[in-house]
Amino acid sequence: MTNQRMDKTSLKFLRDWFKKNAAELPWRLADLDAPRDPYAVWISETMLQQTQVSTVREYFIRWMKRFPNVEALAAAEESEVLRYWQGLGYYSRAKNILKTARIVAEHKEFPFTRKELEALPGIGAYTAGAILSLAYHQREAILDGNLVRIFSRLYALNFLPTDKKSNSTASAPVEVYWNYAREVADSPKAYMHNEALMELGRTVCKIKNPECANCPFHADCKAFAENRVSEFPPSKKHVQKDWHGTVLIIESRDHKILAIHGGQKFFKNQFTLPHFESPRNATAGIPAQAETFVGPDQIESVKVIGKFHHGITVHKIECDVLHIQTNLKAPASRNAEIQWVDIKHAQDFFANSFCLKALALL
Ligand code: SF4
Repeated sequence: MTNQRMDKTSLKFLRDWFKKNAAELPWRLADLDAPRDPYAVWISETMLQQTQVSTVREYFIRWMKRFPNVEALAAAEESEVLRYWQGLGYYSRAKNILKTARIVAEHKEFPFTRKELEALPGIGAYTAGAILSLAYHQREAILDGNLVRIFSRLYALNFLPTDKKSNSTASAPVEVYWNYAREVADSPKAYMHNEALMELGRTVCKIKNPECANCPFHADCKAFAENRVSEFPPSKKHVQKDWHGTVLIIESRDHKILAIHGGQKFFKNQFTLPHFESPRNATAGIPAQAETFVGPDQIESVKVIGKFHHGITVHKIECDVLHIQTNLKAPASRNAEIQWVDIKHAQDFFANSFCLKALALL
């Protein structure tokens, strides 16, 4: 590598390393040079955001069996799509996938420019770059956590792309990183360079204990040469917020559970169990919030059935779960804000782990 830039020799080392070490993955073709199906690239890359490859593998296989192409997905109900996503978290990703599938199906072809792709719900710069390079073999860059880590170490960059400014460069930090990414992608083999870097970050230039001896860049890596690998990338100040709350499982006398849509702290755009912020161990008696849904004379018993822990974005959640048995008969009609769900089907109905953890205590 010369002038701290990725030269042709380094890229050739990277490709050779990848050809020898590429893992078999359900979204990867045996021929690493073959263009991919843009739909499969889009689904796999969206699933892989915030989620480990080992977890995504089975989800992707199951998904592609049920929704093998954009038309099959576009025709599906949102509740079914969410069920196939259940467990991957960040449910807005699944909702955006469905919205985008419906737009793409209407236009009858997958977009092939960055501008068009980034205009679609849920497709950002990273996913657009992955689709354009892996499916269409365009010279388009990607930048994800793996590439950030590699570039930070290779060039000893002591700032993150999310930093507002850095002391060592006049350009915005995010642009410095994207420029390195664009340089790697400025080649007819951009598809392989991008994918190889993702794989290198996942398997060799790992967050902890990078295997520098097996790295195609070890002769050129600044952090490695200076024995400062552990200093890069610099750590970001991670703010976690504790949130303590109560979840209500309100049951009718015909064994249906109340689900509500909207007006809740979490899952604003899907049906969830009623929940609210509360101090620890404050669940004695009937919380006032329950009276929004049932009158005091309709309540037969109130019982704390346990607690669970959960994480949603920056929230570190601890929730008490309150079971409220009522003498109400659930109305058969449905509306957009309230539904009564048969207890036997509740596990299928609630498409988020937060509710499933509460229901598991029942
Ligand atoms: S030599 Fe080590 S730190 Fe540098 S890029 Fe390779 S694995 Fe990462």
